Amino acid sequence: MKYIGAHVSAAGGVEYAPGRAYEIGATAFALFTKNQRQWHSAPLTAASIAAFSAECERFGYGDGQILPHDSYLINLGHPSTPELEKSRAAFVDEMRRAEQLGIDRLNFHPGSTLSAIPVEDCLDRIAESINLALKATNGVTAVIENTAGQGSGVGHRWEHLARIIAGVHDKSRVGVCIDTCHAYTSGYDLRSAAACDATFAEFAEVVGFKYLRGLHLNDTLKSRGSHVDRHAPLGEGELGWDCFRYIVRDSRFDAMPLVLETPDESRWPAEIAALKDMM
Ligand SMILES: [Zn+2]
Ligand SMILES: [Zn+2]
Repeated sequence: MKYIGAHVSAAGGVEYAPGRAYEIGATAFALFTKNQRQWHSAPLTAASIAAFSAECERFGYGDGQILPHDSYLINLGHPSTPELEKSRAAFVDEMRRAEQLGIDRLNFHPGSTLSAIPVEDCLDRIAESINLALKATNGVTAVIENTAGQGSGVGHRWEHLARIIAGVHDKSRVGVCIDTCHAYTSGYDLRSAAACDATFAEFAEVVGFKYLRGLHLNDTLKSRGSHVDRHAPLGEGELGWDCFRYIVRDSRFDAMPLVLETPDESRWPAEIAALKDMM
């Protein structure tokens, strides 16, 4: 079973997200459970939590179909202690929100060295941040997203993801989300079936599909190895439709959220329909 959707707005409250996803023909969705550009948001109310569950039930969204995304401010590998602690506290809050909403996973960008510490040190800090968050919560898997490797960000090599996972004590609650745009601009080819075969074989060897908990389906405006993160509508970037046809036809990507973060949301219904047609 393929679950395909987009990162929908939670404006007005998280309980509005499931209906917005349903309207565009999505069988999966992503959302922010708080303002992604602020450190603090009001706690979720009991009414909002109950309404979210009711709407998920009404529109048929359950485990494996919802992939919340954490705040952009969080850096779980921050080189300096006060900021690292601030990020860790905010991440626990994000994990708790997912837990309160009955969502089984939370997607996050791993972090950044800020050019102040070695990459390995940063990766180990991220693993320890995950350990602390798993201890403080129940039932939610921490899902590390691969990055484009912009600036001093880590997580753009499969080896980075593997090292973080190696440092996590509870392997049952750590996973990975592959963003196709990020993978390509960080250097992995995905432009043809043969290229996808090779890239995913390397992923299988270095990380392992048992850790895969979701995908972000984005085409890319920037070239392979550019380390620049600019999403494009499907089929209108360097990746092209072959990449997305490959993914929706491959059972290794079953039963997990496949989520569009493409720039023009008016096109999401057509993009979702096109992906469903290719299955
Ligand atoms: Zn993404
Ligand atoms: Zn991106």
